[in-house]
Amino acid sequence: MVEHSCDVAIVGAGPTGLSLALFLAAQGVRTAVIEQEAETVVQPRAVTLDDESLRAFATVGVLEAIRPLLLYGYGTRFYTGDGRKLAEVSANATRFGYPCRSGFSQPELVSLLARRAKDSAQTTLLFNGAALSAVDRGEDVLLEVSGSSGESSISARYVVGCDGANSTVRSQIGVTLDGSSHAQPWLIVDTINSPDDARYSRFFCGDPRPYVVVPGKGSRMRYEFMLLPGETAAEISTCRSYSGCCRVGASSGTLTSSGLPSIASIRALRSGGAADA
Ligand SMILES: Cc1cc2nc3c(=O)[nH]c(=O)nc-3n(C[C@H](O)[C@H](O)[C@H](O)COP(=O)(O)OP(=O)(O)OC[C@H]3O[C@@H](n4cnc5c(N)ncnc54)[C@H](O)[C@@H]3O)c2cc1C
Repeated sequence: MVEHSCDVAIVGAGPTGLSLALFLAAQGVRTAVIEQEAETVVQPRAVTLDDESLRAFATVGVLEAIRPLLLYGYGTRFYTGDGRKLAEVSANATRFGYPCRSGFSQPELVSLLARRAKDSAQTTLLFNGAALSAVDRGEDVLLEVSGSSGESSISARYVVGCDGANSTVRSQIGVTLDGSSHAQPWLIVDTINSPDDARYSRFFCGDPRPYVVVPGKGSRMRYEFMLLPGETAAEISTCRSYSGCCRVGASSGTLTSSGLPSIASIRALRSGGAADA
């Protein structure tokens, strides 16, 4: 069994865990980041960064590396279902010196954060190992890790659970979710090669179907459609044209990968995640 020792063991190499590792490294704190997968996330996920995120990345010196990955600064428009504009937030809106909304691709960003963490002398990245248990021994915490790369144990002063929505660490320490998540399922579609160059996300509120269009770097575009009562993601995904789901504002583009019959990069998820975009 391989043994490691560090100040802080971070479970999960998502944006939270890797950002924490970079913050701690900047303070000279030694960390080990444990990730159960072989690499950082590859599926499309978050597409919008806010100004506070950019400020945080600037603080740890990674913003300039991240900037080429961003659609730096875009606005928001809200429409009725039949296309009348209700409200607009300017693309130039800033609060903390950075644009309030910038487009990005989570897999690209997380991969860059992992490379920066790997380059840090303070940080050890351990992929292919799931954290199974953490035992508080008073002086330290002993974390047991198991995966395709074998078994290891990590002695740390602190363990931080950055292991996402189904956190093992959270369940081990008995932390539960206060409140509830949203009940509506949404269908997420990402495209590339969109001819739509609007620097606005567009929220279509109401009949017949609420949906969201979010611009990304280059010619990427994110569409999010709320499923109507009784619909399933599989039913919608068999539409040959996703523009059939939109009354206003749809543009054609190339789907980012193939999967279900005609729409790829599809995620049916609970609207708590989708509504963040
Ligand atoms: C389709 C979709 C669209 C989204 N759009 C947006 C958006 O536009 N804006 C926005 O702000 N958010 C959005 N989100 C949410 C955003 O992706 C998440 O909030 C974000 O990924 C959370 O980051 P995290 O680091 O906390 O967790 P995660 O990204 O889930 O990372 C957790 C990591 O921990 C690893 N892990 C889990 N258990 C263990 C274990 N026991 N041992 C070791 N490793 C473990 C996982 O493999 C994973 O790599 C979206 C999510 C989805 C699914």
